[in-house]
Amino acid sequence: MTYDVIIAGAGPTGLMLAGELALGGARVLLLEKLTARSGQSKALNLQPRSAEVLASRGLLDDILAKAPVLLPRGHFAGIPLDYAELDTPYPYQIGIPQARVEERLAAWAVSLGAEIRYGAAVTTFGQDAGGVTVDGERAAFLVGCDGARSAVRKQSGVAFEGRDARVCALVADVTLAGAGPADWELPAPKGDGMLTVLPLGDGVFRMLAAGPVQAAAGRDDPIPDTELADALARDGLRLGEVRWASRFTDTTRQAVHYRSGRVFLAGDAAHIHSPAGGQGLNLGLQDAFNLGWKLAEVIRGEAGDELLDTYHAERHPVAARVLQASRAQGVLFVPDEDVAALRGVFAELVDARALARRVAGLDHGDRVPGLDLSLLHDGRRHVIDGVPIRPDGFRG
Ligand SMILES: Cc1cc2nc3c(=O)[nH]c(=O)nc-3n(C[C@H](O)[C@H](O)[C@H](O)COP(=O)(O)OP(=O)(O)OC[C@H]3O[C@@H](n4cnc5c(N)ncnc54)[C@H](O)[C@@H]3O)c2cc1C
Repeated sequence: MTYDVIIAGAGPTGLMLAGELALGGARVLLLEKLTARSGQSKALNLQPRSAEVLASRGLLDDILAKAPVLLPRGHFAGIPLDYAELDTPYPYQIGIPQARVEERLAAWAVSLGAEIRYGAAVTTFGQDAGGVTVDGERAAFLVGCDGARSAVRKQSGVAFEGRDARVCALVADVTLAGAGPADWELPAPKGDGMLTVLPLGDGVFRMLAAGPVQAAAGRDDPIPDTELADALARDGLRLGEVRWASRFTDTTRQAVHYRSGRVFLAGDAAHIHSPAGGQGLNLGLQDAFNLGWKLAEVIRGEAGDELLDTYHAERHPVAARVLQASRAQGVLFVPDEDVAALRGVFAELVDARALARRVAGLDHGDRVPGLDLSLLHDGRRHVIDGVPIRPDGFRG
């Protein structure tokens, strides 16, 4: 067998997993449908737990060097959540385009020996007692990190339970004719919709817009410049040049099983939800961080197959809570006077610290306070001051 693990999809989840597996000594083949990296960025942020993940592998400094913004807060449906008091060395969100994170992860994975093959869509696979066969390549395991429309998930026959879209909105990177906002503002309902404009540097702004025009559009409808210009005009801004534009929805679904024998699902292949709160990429990185060392231990013969079942047991509930939270945020974003009243009451009564921990990704796993994360750079288990520590920094 040439490879231990084949990964479908070189998005952030697949790249993180490739690096984790290679670090653990596994032979990895990453198959990516695109012929080259797109350079486009849907996500723009890393939550505190993702910062811990990256610091645990010595990748955080490079990421911080490329981040235009550090935000000392998160938000829930636009309600600010102070991160200052969180139990983490990184009590902030890192504002960084997804493409920069992917570049760093790709370089890391390749430097550790992972093979990335572009222009290689996974189309058919099968599994037997000895391994998986993926488009003619053989390995012990296959992981579908191939995004929301995952071919691996569909062919595995794993149910993707949830609901279809109720809201359609648009995202675009644009320049402006005239000045734009200098700071990253929190999203909030405005008029009969929502508009958020964030400076990305070099005169480029990320805009997210929702309203009656976007609601009436289909997910794959083209986006005329006039639609972008009209949305910006709500804030008195004027459109310059359009760099990239797309529509997105709040379709919310989760795979019922993350494991089917030798085949696993991670990232958007396992769960999709509205981008409200900025968590999809973060969830995917953390799925990969949970699965990678477990597969590597089993491949090295240091753990039994049952360790792999803990991936679903630990990660499925985390995503289920994020999906629940994103649905709740979708309701709180509805531009309606009564919903505004509900937002006000919610903001007053909520345990803001507990909610901040949840959005930051710090509300699960037995984290060891004050752990020196540089001790985890080798991706192996340690015993520190008598405490057994897993390669992901959790006690155990
Ligand atoms: C508008 C918008 C804004 C967002 N903002 C945020 C944010 O601020 N913060 C956040 O955390 N998340 C955000 N997200 C979500 C985030 O972008 C995704 O959760 C993240 O990209 C998921 O990563 P992934 O690697 O699992 O999947 P993907 O990024 O979808 O990558 C999947 C990869 O698999 C490849 N592929 C597909 N099919 C195959 C196949 N058959 N064979 C081989 N390769 C295949 C694809 O080409 C792709 O490269 C946002 C999403 C949207 C739409």
